Amino acid sequence: MSEVKVRVRFAPSPTGYPHVGNIRTALFNWLFARHNGGVFILRIEDTDRERMVEGAVEAIVDSLHWLGLDWDEGPHFQSQRLALYHEVAQELVKLDAAYYCYCSPERLRSVREEQMKRKQPPGYDRHCRNLTRSQRDEFESRGIVPVVRFKTPLEGQTIFQDLLRGEVVFQNSTLDDFVLLKSDGYPTYHLANIVDDHFMEVSHVLRADEWLSSTPRHVLLYQALGWEPPKFAHLPMILGPDRSKLSKRHGATSITEYMEAGYLPEAMFNFLALLGWSLDDKTELMDKDTIIKHFSLERISKNPAVFNREKLDWMNGVYIRSLSLAEFTRRALPFLKKGLPSEVSSLLDESYVSRVMPLIQDRARTLGEVAQLTEFFFVEELEYDSKLLVEKLSPAQAGSSLRVTLVHLEELAAWDAQSLEKLLRPLAEELRLKTSVYFGLLRVAVTGRTAAPPLFQTMEVLGKERCLRRLKSALARVSRAE
Ligand code: GLU
Repeated sequence: MSEVKVRVRFAPSPTGYPHVGNIRTALFNWLFARHNGGVFILRIEDTDRERMVEGAVEAIVDSLHWLGLDWDEGPHFQSQRLALYHEVAQELVKLDAAYYCYCSPERLRSVREEQMKRKQPPGYDRHCRNLTRSQRDEFESRGIVPVVRFKTPLEGQTIFQDLLRGEVVFQNSTLDDFVLLKSDGYPTYHLANIVDDHFMEVSHVLRADEWLSSTPRHVLLYQALGWEPPKFAHLPMILGPDRSKLSKRHGATSITEYMEAGYLPEAMFNFLALLGWSLDDKTELMDKDTIIKHFSLERISKNPAVFNREKLDWMNGVYIRSLSLAEFTRRALPFLKKGLPSEVSSLLDESYVSRVMPLIQDRARTLGEVAQLTEFFFVEELEYDSKLLVEKLSPAQAGSSLRVTLVHLEELAAWDAQSLEKLLRPLAEELRLKTSVYFGLLRVAVTGRTAAPPLFQTMEVLGKERCLRRLKSALARVSRAE
């Protein structure tokens, strides 16, 4: 038996911004293709015209580019392939596997209401399944545009093998005569999906769990057309930490939000790969090549995966720390420009930026945090609550400490971290202050914050002039409180 050539597709509907779950599906398909030397196809399923969202296609494409998920074929747009779907729908009618339905939306609504009242499962009542030629002519003469429905077998079972779950059995009696072609001329998901998978010679369909209930319909369509179905694998759901389906309630769900928040694509890649797949149940950090090399359907879990934001933040921090300083600076720069006040960001001096960056590289969990972490390096005037200066000291003590410090610092010729430490550490003793209290005071004075990168290095980068100015302004603040 010859090996089947792996051809997989990512088939998003542009009905919103790509959810992390969608992109996880894209990633698994891409990994499967790359591991097997196969083909990855991008297909945009834009047949639901009412639910289309402007900009969604661009967001999908941007997300794939960002993660480095390149496609070998496409993007195909289903909206450009309507003639093909019509042809297949007519073929199904000819085969007596589908029929025209003229029921009005009002009639369908009242059928549904009646079913609800009787507590029956909702579904089309097959009113048009057996219309005669003359009944159809009569509807046509009234100008009613029909839909095409599938003639679902009334009895029996539809069985297929899921590569992850094994045999899946559906009773045909639970499936209704679903629509294939809508009255607006567009196919439904079911029709367009199987037609494309067939003609694009898709070998494996890896898609989210939520599509499992569509699969028996697809299998029936393949059978009716005499086409061989692809192999199916339904990927485990992604849950929030509370074990309910991942949703907005759990925070950002669209991949573009993570992109904009400054997560690194390589961290996101690694993180998403572990949402349902694992190398050995313990290895967390893996680069792209390692994941491609080891990716297999056998290692995909049947259980839902939990989206753990803390783990993502941790992983992103690890990836940030592993960048060279130059690379970190290059990637952080756009975030810095966006995040700093505009009067500062337009004047960024690259050599100064490159001296600031090493001080925060190991503290940033995302590139988006960089502006907030470093703002005090760039602004002219610090804004902070003067109370921070006198949290551990009386205003008089803080004032005299700052005065003494200023005198010494003004005389300091070499403004580097080492010299600063050599001067200031003994000064704490002289002032009879605990170093933590004294350095805390200086930290607030020069950064406006109680938590910042190491004090002496920070002072070195800020420079003598700026530090003295800030210490004087802190002194003025405490003098007002004295
Ligand atoms: N258009 C569907 C989606 O948005 C495709 C599902 C499938 O892969 O068959 O996810």
